[in-house]
Amino acid sequence: MNYHQYYPVDVVNGPGTRCTLFVSGCEHQCPGCYNQSTWRLNSGHPFTPELEDRIIADLQSTTIPLQGISLSGGDPLHPQNIPEMLRLVRRIRAECPGKDIWMWTGYRMDELTPEQKEVVDLINVLVDGKFEQERRDLTLVWRGSRNQVIHHLR
Ligand code: SF4
Repeated sequence: MNYHQYYPVDVVNGPGTRCTLFVSGCEHQCPGCYNQSTWRLNSGHPFTPELEDRIIADLQSTTIPLQGISLSGGDPLHPQNIPEMLRLVRRIRAECPGKDIWMWTGYRMDELTPEQKEVVDLINVLVDGKFEQERRDLTLVWRGSRNQVIHHLR
């Protein structure tokens, strides 16, 4: 898996103070996508074990207490991102108790594969669906178009 950006402290991409990871790879090609540079799987930088460890350490840190992590992209549920995404969310569940995991994906909840579902079963909130330009609504919170749904899973 590759990633584009990691923000250790972020107050924009999700509720509260969080860390945010934007991964590479998206096959949805939504017209009007604000993040087209993340579409290619090999764009950005390799997601290394060192960065994975850093994310866990940031979530555990008491210097700047974080509410949780936001996983976005690109698409964290791109089939080729699943193995590393699954390992990351498993580690967060095991090593960072009390931290919430929000995820943004272009796939709809009802069309997830069993592999994608395995990841989603471990997170708190999934914001699903492609960005649809004609249903864009600037008044929405945490989503860009009215078709997208915020699923509170835990
Ligand atoms: S799912 Fe998100 S990143 Fe992918 S094309 Fe659509 S808006 Fe862009």
